[in-house]
Amino acid sequence: MSEVVLVTGGSRGIGAATSKLAAARGYHVCVNYRADEAAAAAVVAGIREAGGTALAVRADVSRSAEVERLFRTVDDELGPLTGLVNNAGTLETQCRLDELDGERLARTWSANITGPFLCAGAAVRRMSTRYGGSGGAIVNVSSAAARLGAPNEYVDYAAAKGALDTMTRGLALEVAREDIRVNCVRPGLIHTGIHALGGEAGRVDRIAPSLPMGRGGRPEEVAEAILWLLSPAASYATGTFLDLSGGR
Ligand code: NAP
Repeated sequence: MSEVVLVTGGSRGIGAATSKLAAARGYHVCVNYRADEAAAAAVVAGIREAGGTALAVRADVSRSAEVERLFRTVDDELGPLTGLVNNAGTLETQCRLDELDGERLARTWSANITGPFLCAGAAVRRMSTRYGGSGGAIVNVSSAAARLGAPNEYVDYAAAKGALDTMTRGLALEVAREDIRVNCVRPGLIHTGIHALGGEAGRVDRIAPSLPMGRGGRPEEVAEAILWLLSPAASYATGTFLDLSGGR
């Protein structure tokens, strides 16, 4: 039976690279997205043209009813879930902490914290031996920002990723004897569209010269690490973090 992986935010950037690499490695892939249907359809079409199996499902991961529908669709269309990549995340315009209001904070927490928590819970209820499942792996996509704090840019986003780091440890220990591994990647500056959301599409190019490796990263370089953590090759790794930040 094929491995089934759900990639939240699998339609663009790191999630799209992860969906494509997972399909190339033989996983049946659910490509989740929130709004950009065309981008999700393009990822699925590319996977199918290459002979893989994929399905696009629209759902906002910060809404519990939509998460339940998303996971039920995976159950029905692809079969028992064996992997979750908690990749969906977002940020807003660069500013200082003293300029943040409550509405923005609520949006940041719900997209970057509530979403991964809801998806991890739904995945555990399917994969855990405690629930009669056959085990699996969860990979959270956090950020180097959790360590660096993102001053003058988005301390709210950085703090949300810090929460995801804490969830990685806590959940990994909760389910360590239930045949589920929970790990985390922390990308640094990666060439994707997320930086435009902060109001600076060229952010990676601006900062890259100051990085130890002198360049930004590619989504495919993060996808490789995610696929390793999902795979049986990482069978003794749980509750751990892989920084993909060019030495930063
Ligand atoms: P991206 O290019 O902006 O893509 C974000 C993806 O997430 C899109 O597929 C988007 O779908 C989806 N998404 C956003 N909010 C969602 C929600 N509430 N429900 C479902 N899907 C949602 O971002 P990226 O740079 O690839 O980032 C992917 C992950 O890596 C994020 O968690 C981000 O924080 C993290 N990260 C990125 C970098 C970097 O430099 N790029 C560095 C560190 C960490 P729609 O297009 O349909 O909205």
